[in-house]
Amino acid sequence: MSSRTVSGQTDVEIAVRNRSQYARTLHRPDPDADEPEPACPVCYDADAEYTRVPIAAYRPHYDLCGYPQCFGGEQS
Ligand SMILES: [Zn+2]
Repeated sequence: MSSRTVSGQTDVEIAVRNRSQYARTLHRPDPDADEPEPACPVCYDADAEYTRVPIAAYRPHYDLCGYPQCFGGEQS
């Protein structure tokens, strides 16, 4: 097994999502943040609340964030 991940797979099991009912994107958790926050500054909304969720359970219904700081960097 190589370290390269394939589309739809991630190297983390937990993502963060905006608690908004309209949110449809999973973001990589910011490893430097105490609170659940997306790793990509572009996605971070100071007015939003984020919660940690298991990727496996949400992946069928949510998109993975395409920014490099989140999951975009894993795709070719
Ligand atoms: Zn993101």
